[in-house]
Amino acid sequence: EPALDGAFRTLLDWADERRDIGIRANCDTPAEAAIADRFLAEGIGLCRTEHMFFDADRLTVMRKMILAERPGDRLAALERLLPMQRADFTELFRIMAGRPVCIRLLDPPLHEFLPEDPDEIRALAEALAMPASAVERRIAALREINPMLGLRGVRLGIAMPEIYDMQARAIFEAAVDVAPRVTPEVMIPLVSARREVELVSARIDAVAAQVRIETGIAFEYRLGVMVETPRAALRADEIAEYAGFLSFGTNDLTQMTYGLSRDDASRFMPDYVRQGVFPEDPFLRLDLDGVGELLTIGAQRGRAGRADITLSICGEHGGDPEAIAFCRSSGFDYISCSPFRVPVARLAAAHLAIREAGATGTAPPER
Ligand code: PEP
Ligand code: MG
Repeated sequence: EPALDGAFRTLLDWADERRDIGIRANCDTPAEAAIADRFLAEGIGLCRTEHMFFDADRLTVMRKMILAERPGDRLAALERLLPMQRADFTELFRIMAGRPVCIRLLDPPLHEFLPEDPDEIRALAEALAMPASAVERRIAALREINPMLGLRGVRLGIAMPEIYDMQARAIFEAAVDVAPRVTPEVMIPLVSARREVELVSARIDAVAAQVRIETGIAFEYRLGVMVETPRAALRADEIAEYAGFLSFGTNDLTQMTYGLSRDDASRFMPDYVRQGVFPEDPFLRLDLDGVGELLTIGAQRGRAGRADITLSICGEHGGDPEAIAFCRSSGFDYISCSPFRVPVARLAAAHLAIREAGATGTAPPER
């Protein structure tokens, strides 16, 4: 892909001189990071690591790790995943060339990695040299009635801490291995309680200490929390004790605030909107009244807990000009959106700053 140039590039450069809120991109793969780089995103605001485990060769190892009944077997599978994960992060760090990269630890319910089809289960049992009945038993034990409200996010990190240990190690080993050096950001998903962050951050600190000893490199890292449950927004002050940054995940936060499944809402949403129950689909357009109030409360309480906390939004709404206006007025430091939305986000952010300068009579910065 050619770099941006010409009039469009000039326009975006002007926008960057005016805007006063940061723009990062949500990137899970090197290909997405390359687009973010091309559109001059200031960093990666969300790397969802689960996508990295869906390649056929990795999926089998991931499944072996999940289905392991003995801790030794789980650790052996994680050992095999470690170099693959490290290579993923090295590539992202390399493309972003010193810009911040925020990596989210594993989030989805584990059933998303497991087969349902009996033939696939049999093939998996064969590949793992396990009796099919044992694989079926283990899959049944992991089945949940409401997986999106179940064992996912940080709850996984607490139930199976070795997974986050492996990911943290992969992040740190990659970070000390690239030039220019990066300060990686590690983000914990679906937090609802301070103690979750305390437990996970203690383990991640221990991994960092170990990697510093092994490599002899005194690297730093930043630890942050995704605010995507109403409770995390309400308790952001105490969560901030362990978090240098808070990133609001408005997809889950919308789901949790409405108590409405993000995966099923579209079935009746058109009818709901037609009847005027909701003015718009809140998953498509940020609900400024309800979800927005939680963002405001979360931002205020996060700052009360830690005055210099970094605040951002990384749900799908992040690229929406209206959501950018809201985040800017709530004092957020940056938004993170799909890489393709970065140019529009840069223009929208500049527009807001210019309009405000016009309204207050403040001259825009000189060019
Ligand atoms: C969110 O919930 O807003 C978010 C960014 O995470 P995900 O969409 O991966 O759940
Ligand atoms: Mg989420």
